[in-house]
Amino acid sequence: MEKRDYYEILGISKTATPEELKKAFRKMALKYHPDKNPGNKEAEEKFKEAAEAYEVLSDAEKRQRYDQFGHAGVGNGSGFSGFGGGMSIDEIFRHFGDIFGGGGFEDPFSSFFGGGGGRSRGRQVSRGTNLRVKVKLTLEEIAHGVEKKIKVNKYVTCTTCNGTGARGGSGFNTCPTCHGSGHVTRVTNTFLGQMQSTTTCPNCGGEGHVITDKCPECAGNGILKGEEVITLKIPAGVSEGLQLSVSGKGNAAPRGGIPGDLLVQIEEIHHEFLERDGNDLLCEHFITFPDAAMGTSIEIPTLEGKAKIKIEAGTQSGKVLRLKGKGLPSLNSWEGKGDLLIKIHVWTPKNLTKEEKSILEKLSKSPGFQPNPTSKDRNFFSRMKDIFEQ
Ligand SMILES: [Zn+2]
Ligand SMILES: [Zn+2]
Repeated sequence: MEKRDYYEILGISKTATPEELKKAFRKMALKYHPDKNPGNKEAEEKFKEAAEAYEVLSDAEKRQRYDQFGHAGVGNGSGFSGFGGGMSIDEIFRHFGDIFGGGGFEDPFSSFFGGGGGRSRGRQVSRGTNLRVKVKLTLEEIAHGVEKKIKVNKYVTCTTCNGTGARGGSGFNTCPTCHGSGHVTRVTNTFLGQMQSTTTCPNCGGEGHVITDKCPECAGNGILKGEEVITLKIPAGVSEGLQLSVSGKGNAAPRGGIPGDLLVQIEEIHHEFLERDGNDLLCEHFITFPDAAMGTSIEIPTLEGKAKIKIEAGTQSGKVLRLKGKGLPSLNSWEGKGDLLIKIHVWTPKNLTKEEKSILEKLSKSPGFQPNPTSKDRNFFSRMKDIFEQ
């Protein structure tokens, strides 16, 4: 399915401020809220779509990557488990608790955004840390996109207690300090009068409950050191240094929080013949002096096998030939594919035999062998115009 533009989803301009962004998302969330559209799958999808767009655009770093590379830049290109796809509506609300928790939604939703479903307003949800991995790719893999399976050492959810940290998944009580709200209000007397401040509950760390009987497997953390094999679908056209993020594939969070992201950094493996220059590929090819003088055809390695190219009689050393569309695809669909540029060198023989020398000596006096460059031979940029459509 073709992904829609995030700005378009939220109905904002590319220059929208964080405040405008927040406002637009709240509006969408109200409109497509599951409570308002019970059983409406389309509304749910629209809601998730808006949440995903907001998740990316509200993060300055992700927004910049999205602006530069499109969906692939934020790991939501072909097949990456995007935010909306990987999370339930419930998780999305927990994720954006700060937006919805601050009030502003009217009655029909207060139960949902507030304490509904056993969650209390302001209760903190833990978040797993992000994981970073490097993936090395050949130019061939970059040209076509590739699926990579990688094994990652990471914290995984403890299956014994289902990530709750409590023995049997039930050995916990409501926190006596905060009575389950996850925060405590303090009143202090100052010379300005009484000051009220709300802080995270020190007893339960904001979770709202305390474990009375810890899970023996994970010592009450809800997570364990483990590993996971993750399939990365890397889109065509990525480049060295680009970072893709896979939502929710980082470390699991303690006691049922939201997992971190897996950040995948792309590295390029050096190619034997081809060098990358943006989306173009460059290579050099040496031909003999007789071939340059009389013309020939050569075979050039491309990322899709060999290509045959005609060398015109009288080709000068340094001529650049261009195979249109034989470069790399771009991450941005609005840019076309790059080209393959071949620089032709005429090989000057070294260590000549006596016989070779005597032949060349005769030829060197011939009128046709005297340099007589035209502007076409001289001008690098005019040489660039030789384009082979393939
Ligand atoms: Zn456990
Ligand atoms: Zn507490």
